[in-house]
Amino acid sequence: MKTINVNVVTPDGKIFDGDVEMVSAKAQSGELGILPGHIPMVAPLTVCAVRLKTGSDVQLVAVSGGFLEIRPDQVTVLAESAELPSDIDVERARAAKERAERRMQQDKSDSIDFKRAELALKRAINRLNVSGK
Ligand code: ATP
Repeated sequence: MKTINVNVVTPDGKIFDGDVEMVSAKAQSGELGILPGHIPMVAPLTVCAVRLKTGSDVQLVAVSGGFLEIRPDQVTVLAESAELPSDIDVERARAAKERAERRMQQDKSDSIDFKRAELALKRAINRLNVSGK
């Protein structure tokens, strides 16, 4: 199988660098499945799990928005934050989820605070899903 080089980079540094057979991610325009030789493009990312697949092995990365830059032989994920499952602090994510849910109950749904809490909730749920907890 052909492979494609993947780099996941955040403001804190590189989270992943390796060759995989397929990358899947949720762009704002919808799900993307990227194989070697993909046409070049840049896509804004949602809060999502990036899946890096090689054979039967799937490496998940929790990503909180950013951009995906695709070239035929390389994918770069420029993420606002990104964590591998083993780096996710599950208690912290649970606490963030509860805090966000409380705020969403207190604030009006069109307020900036509600929208912030909604995004925080998405990040926390995504981290919990990626950690498998
Ligand atoms: P919190 O309210 O717990 O800070 P958050 O969603 O507001 O969560 P971010 O602003 O997305 O946090 O991330 C800030 C930094 O903290 C990033 O480096 C991110 O990787 C890290 N981070 C956030 N939550 C977790 C977690 N549950 N486990 C490990 N690292 C985390």
